[in-house]
Amino acid sequence: MKNAKKLFISAVSLIVLICAMALSIDAVDITIRAKDSNGNFIYGATFEVRASDGTTNTSVPVGPDYVGKIFNLTSGKKYGINVRYAGYAAGWTEITCPSSANTYDVTLKSKTTYKNENYTKPVSFTTSDISSRIGYRYGTLLTPNYGFHSGADIPKPEKTSISSIHNGEVYDKGNSTSMGYWIQTKSTSGTQYYARFMHMYETSPLSIGDPVYTSNCYIGKVGTTGASTNNHLHFEISASTSYSASTAIDPEAFYN
Ligand SMILES: [Zn+2]
Repeated sequence: MKNAKKLFISAVSLIVLICAMALSIDAVDITIRAKDSNGNFIYGATFEVRASDGTTNTSVPVGPDYVGKIFNLTSGKKYGINVRYAGYAAGWTEITCPSSANTYDVTLKSKTTYKNENYTKPVSFTTSDISSRIGYRYGTLLTPNYGFHSGADIPKPEKTSISSIHNGEVYDKGNSTSMGYWIQTKSTSGTQYYARFMHMYETSPLSIGDPVYTSNCYIGKVGTTGASTNNHLHFEISASTSYSASTAIDPEAFYN
């Protein structure tokens, strides 16, 4: 009788334990799909999943026959998802994983729109030189650890010259604890875009309203001022003076 009672308690404990494990895992199938501006699916894109707590930090290419990728995410957690495909500007979305399966579409705009602006590069670089691309990211050295990175980081030696990327004028400049010495330019021909350059070595010699132009128009020097751990240029482009996840444009789309 005593042994039967012990056995019963053990069995109940085991069932409780299994239920608790099942509840704590709570994986949900989330499908992310890439679409173009016309609503057509893009096949074979690369999907990066960045969990806000760092538990998922994966980059997943899918085969040419697939428009999307299914991820087992955890209900209630926040995730940033970056989507890339050759010939398109990067796209992204942020989701809080729901309690049951769901599908999310991310629209990618063709690079042609941006390349037609004929912008020049602020410093020489190719995609492989970029240490941190635009999109959601997680890193223990970041403050906060998770968030949207609104531009591209290009490591360069201290004092490397930074050139204007478009024909326009200096819109604003300053110095802050996060951006260091920064300058913002705006285009005055073509589509109006604003470009901002951060962590410069020192303040730009240019003043607000000064003209800038493509091809070797000096606007500042690479440095590591502000919230930065190494000499690099952070640069970002937007159609407005805001550079949030909803307004920033993939700077690489203008070039590669
Ligand atoms: Zn950056």
